[in-house]
Amino acid sequence: MIRTDVLILGGGLSGLSTAYHLGERAGRSCLVVDKSPVIGGTAGSVRREGFVFDHTGHLLHLHDPYGKRLVATLLRGNLAWLARSSWIHSQGVDTRYPFQANTFGLPAAVVEECVAGFLKTVHWPAPPATGSFRDWCLAQFGEGISRRFMFPYNEKVWRRSLREITTDWQGPFVPKPAAGEVIRGALMDQAQAFGYNAAFSYPIRGGIQSLPESLARSLAGGRLRLGARVASVDLAARVAVVEGVGEVGFGRLVNTMPLPHFLDLARPLPAGVLEARRNLRHNSVYCLNIGIARPRVSDKHWIYFPEKGFAFYRAGFLSNFSRHVAPAGASSMYIEAARRPSEKVELPRLERLFLEGLRACGILRRSDRIVARHWAPIEYGYVVYDRDRTAALKTVFAFLRKAKVESIGRYGAWKYSFMEEALLDGKRCAERLSSGGRSRAQGLARGA
Ligand SMILES: Cc1cc2nc3c(=O)[nH]c(=O)nc-3n(C[C@H](O)[C@H](O)[C@H](O)COP(=O)(O)OP(=O)(O)OC[C@H]3O[C@@H](n4cnc5c(N)ncnc54)[C@H](O)[C@@H]3O)c2cc1C
Repeated sequence: MIRTDVLILGGGLSGLSTAYHLGERAGRSCLVVDKSPVIGGTAGSVRREGFVFDHTGHLLHLHDPYGKRLVATLLRGNLAWLARSSWIHSQGVDTRYPFQANTFGLPAAVVEECVAGFLKTVHWPAPPATGSFRDWCLAQFGEGISRRFMFPYNEKVWRRSLREITTDWQGPFVPKPAAGEVIRGALMDQAQAFGYNAAFSYPIRGGIQSLPESLARSLAGGRLRLGARVASVDLAARVAVVEGVGEVGFGRLVNTMPLPHFLDLARPLPAGVLEARRNLRHNSVYCLNIGIARPRVSDKHWIYFPEKGFAFYRAGFLSNFSRHVAPAGASSMYIEAARRPSEKVELPRLERLFLEGLRACGILRRSDRIVARHWAPIEYGYVVYDRDRTAALKTVFAFLRKAKVESIGRYGAWKYSFMEEALLDGKRCAERLSSGGRSRAQGLARGA
């Protein structure tokens, strides 16, 4: 049996960030294990026929000063800053994101319905934090905007009634414009930046995987084991069984694997935790990446598709993030649909529907040649924020604290979060673990 002070389950951004921030100077041994033969988890990339594809669009939205400094340090010169060009396709036209502030160009009756509905809400009281996402949309944006965009788009992503979805995930993700902005956006094409992701950055070369790769470069000396699936975790004996590695004895444990999956592998678990685990729900995302033998099939970054007639909720143009992810003279795209885990998915059928939809809205031409394709099914795509989630997490995390297990990252903490947060989760976790020793986080914070 091998022994390590800190065992990190999962080599995505949060696991790698934990190891990076623990650093060598913290005086503790650590080992990162991941079942995949490649690092990066959801922020990984694949290469096909000269294209670099991600697992759907993965753009860096950097808001935290430390997060910005860290990414700039890690990607040193390999980072482009871009001003977002995101749109919504509905009623046969493209309007700017966010829909609630940009109805210009839609049929007059739709514009009127959206603006009049919004204006009615201006003097309404703030919606209760405990209500459903559906009620929150109606109170925030009114009938028109809700029915034309908020409901159909979010139903495509969450795959269930919005009455079941709570409001505690959306925070900065669903911006509310002022009444003047809604009116101006109905009268003219306003190119004003709204929301959390008005500007973003993306690696110039190597796709998003260059970020986890840069973190992994710090893990010398066998501290990262790939193709190493965790088979079981004995929390009492403090021993994990990892395929290809064997038994690993650990002092502290950091989980970044999807929380329900971790709970399925861990023992012993009290009955209350087993019951709570059944209340953790998620959706899967099916992402089709395609390479097209035509330059610049679009000048946009991505487009949302709320209408039922399209089998996907979003399509993006990866080769507009960086020209180095597609061969000269070609373009690349990602197209996304969500499904409940229980739904049967036939990829060839979905691919046909995706391509038909892209032709129907004029993005693809009949004459276009698809020269590369790659399916990226993301089993754990979106954590479902339903009414059971908060209570279930409370029970699970009370238990994990006692068992001295850190469970972090988008799926370990079971939340809706982005890459910067995964990096920061890892930093904060390393700080909690490295009491006494000087971690890399402290070094970088002091400019070392
Ligand atoms: C559709 C979609 C679009 C997104 N777009 C963006 C975006 O534009 N910008 C942004 O900032 N963020 C985006 N994100 C979020 C981003 O992907 C995550 O925040 C981040 O990658 C999470 O990293 P993580 O380390 O927490 O989890 P993960 O990357 O999922 O890492 C978990 C790791 O655990 C490993 N694992 C699982 N089971 C086992 C096992 N039994 N044994 C060993 N290893 C195991 C997995 O292989 C994986 O590597 C998006 C996510 C999705 C799903």
